[in-house]
Amino acid sequence: MAAQRENNYDALTGLLEMHSFFHVTIGIADRDHEQGIFPARYAVYFNISNFKLYNSIYGIEGGDECLKKIAAILKDVFAGDYIGRAAGDSFLVLAAKGTAIARTEEACRRINEMINNPGIQIRAGINQTESDDYGKYVQKGDSFTFDLAKIACDSIKDKNNVCYAFYTKEMGKYNEDRNFILAHFEEALKNGNIKIAYQPIVRSITGKFCNSEALSRWYDPEYGNISPAVFIKVLEDAHLIHKLDTFVLREVAKVLRYEIDHDIPYVPISINFSRLDFFLMNPFEEVQKVVKEFDLKPNMIDIEITESTILEDESFLKKEVNDFRNAGYEVWLDDFGSGYSSLNVLADFHFDEIKLDMGFLKNYSESSQRVIKSVIVMAKQLGLHTLAEGVETKEQADFLISIGCDKMQGYYYAKPMGLDIAVDYPQQRQINVETPEEEILFNRASAVNVITDKSIGFYIYDGKYLTIRFANNAYWHVLSKIGLHSKEEVNALLRDPTVNKLESIYDLAEKAKNTGKGSLIYQTDIYYMNINMQKLSQAGNMVLLQLELENLNLRHTNVDLTKYAREIRNFMAMYRDIYYFKGDLGEIEVLQSGNPAYKAGEVMKWEKDVFENYAKDRIHPQDQKRYLHFMNKETIYSLAEKSDKDETVTMFKEKDRNGNYKWMIYDAIVIRDTRGNDVLLAIREDVLPWMADGSEVLQEYTRDISEKK
Ligand code: C2E
Ligand code: CA
Ligand code: CA
Repeated sequence: MAAQRENNYDALTGLLEMHSFFHVTIGIADRDHEQGIFPARYAVYFNISNFKLYNSIYGIEGGDECLKKIAAILKDVFAGDYIGRAAGDSFLVLAAKGTAIARTEEACRRINEMINNPGIQIRAGINQTESDDYGKYVQKGDSFTFDLAKIACDSIKDKNNVCYAFYTKEMGKYNEDRNFILAHFEEALKNGNIKIAYQPIVRSITGKFCNSEALSRWYDPEYGNISPAVFIKVLEDAHLIHKLDTFVLREVAKVLRYEIDHDIPYVPISINFSRLDFFLMNPFEEVQKVVKEFDLKPNMIDIEITESTILEDESFLKKEVNDFRNAGYEVWLDDFGSGYSSLNVLADFHFDEIKLDMGFLKNYSESSQRVIKSVIVMAKQLGLHTLAEGVETKEQADFLISIGCDKMQGYYYAKPMGLDIAVDYPQQRQINVETPEEEILFNRASAVNVITDKSIGFYIYDGKYLTIRFANNAYWHVLSKIGLHSKEEVNALLRDPTVNKLESIYDLAEKAKNTGKGSLIYQTDIYYMNINMQKLSQAGNMVLLQLELENLNLRHTNVDLTKYAREIRNFMAMYRDIYYFKGDLGEIEVLQSGNPAYKAGEVMKWEKDVFENYAKDRIHPQDQKRYLHFMNKETIYSLAEKSDKDETVTMFKEKDRNGNYKWMIYDAIVIRDTRGNDVLLAIREDVLPWMADGSEVLQEYTRDISEKK
């Protein structure tokens, strides 16, 4: 019994020293048990986080003073309970159940007030001893119940604004896992119980398998599976994580080497580096060494660094990131949005890609969609590629594709899988493997913001055929009006030799390939479409083109499109030139021109010398002065004002291609409801008869355009 033994007291605080404390408390447990009131008390474990800092500020003596004061507060608050000092800055209390929690709170509050430094906080763990714990006391030894309280206390050691936690069964399991992990880690690396799983990453606009992520797995034949979430944390806490990550690096390098040697189409593999790796080793040097040893290239390995890493030591990590990037590795920011990063950090660091944290898709709703959209837009503005993690449903995938998220990873596509399956995966799922050329091609598309009212489509042009790869909502809207609803339909049309004037589109693609861009008004029986093409990138013979479509006769969805389009077409056919003058911008856009010097889609300045040159070249000398007067904004506005249709018509003698002068009718309409009082100028030859409703159509067309400008 406790009384038969001499108790030892801690010299500094006067509290019971740890072994004596356990001796006393087990006696209390026995007594409570005999009296049938067990469990009458809770075990409370106190620890001060960062007490080292206190010592370095106030010196050892100051630290001793503080510990004495803590002991005094504990004695005061836990009057009538049993108090002891464990090692250093840890204290133990066996506290009566009824008051234990309130007293713990009070003690934490008073001690924190006394320390008065937010970086140095007392924390407590409470083990709410259960009735069947008495057996375990006897079986497991006297410190048993306090060990559990300590586990609870340790569980919150990194948490701010939390001063105590209750022990739970899960914490117990964690502790058990922890012990197992630390005892068997080295052995598991050697005997193959730690393996790498590979999770495919898919490129949105092609659906091709473009990357994979290496994730550690620990399967122990006896102990069972240990979750990476657990062993990664344990290894980090124990400062052993770099051993795991170097192991992963070497395994990945081996796999890449194997794939290359056996002509298996491969994709770059990304590796996770823990924040601590940057302090425990030199990840950059390590990667360089392994890449050299296995004769790989830097673009075969991507580096994932998690968001929380970059908070720690910015300038140091910036250098690490730059070292990797300068040597040709892509560096990805993992778990973006999981809590910490501000957008400044993104702008400051030069990452290649951000991985949107799974949390964005966890609570998938309209508002989370808005957030995802704005992250994607922002990332594009910063020139970052985007990858969404945790894609689990088709709905999520479709949404992410539609907003231009570059890559996707998640159970919807594939779970992390063993190497044997990973190698077969593309064939099995009929997903093609992206080639390095395609990577170059498609990486450029990611810079384009597709969350816009502008219609944007991406096409591959291989010198023979155009193939659509992506269309944003606005683009599909335009296409749907002409009866195209799927990529298959678009591609079929582009390969159908009977399609009217298809060669003009291919001529345009060829032009864009050679010169970078081009535009054209494409006309069929039922529609009129302005097509703009821009070359984004090229790899070998493959060109990635961005297309913008503007349906020139798209106004009301319920009009008889065919009839309306015919009229517009007749109208356009009637005029040789149609120009759109933007009043506020002082620009002229060419909508149609019979003059080979001007191409549809071209934009010029609305300035005098444009017309002066034209007048000199083409207008009859007698008409030149009047022409220049007419082509002036103010003249058009004042003439139009006088008419009831905001329209003014005049005629000039103009040279045609053969050098003969002909009368041309200039019809200018001021479009009052546009911001800049824009003007539509249509020029036709006098000889053509007016269509009965010609000016009606012109008015209609004017309104149509003004709505869109
Ligand atoms: P992480 O880097 O964010 O990896 C993605 C995690 O999400 C993986 O969990 C993966 O299995 C899981 N996941 C993938 N798709 C889905 C999905 O559609 N739905 C859901 N609910 N989950 C999905 P895992 O493998 O358990 O890894 C957890 C974390 O452990 C990783 O998160 C990473 O931070 C870390 N980790 C894993 N392996 C290593 C490693 O070798 N080294 C280091 N330093 N950390 C690693
Ligand atoms: Ca990762
Ligand atoms: Ca992640």
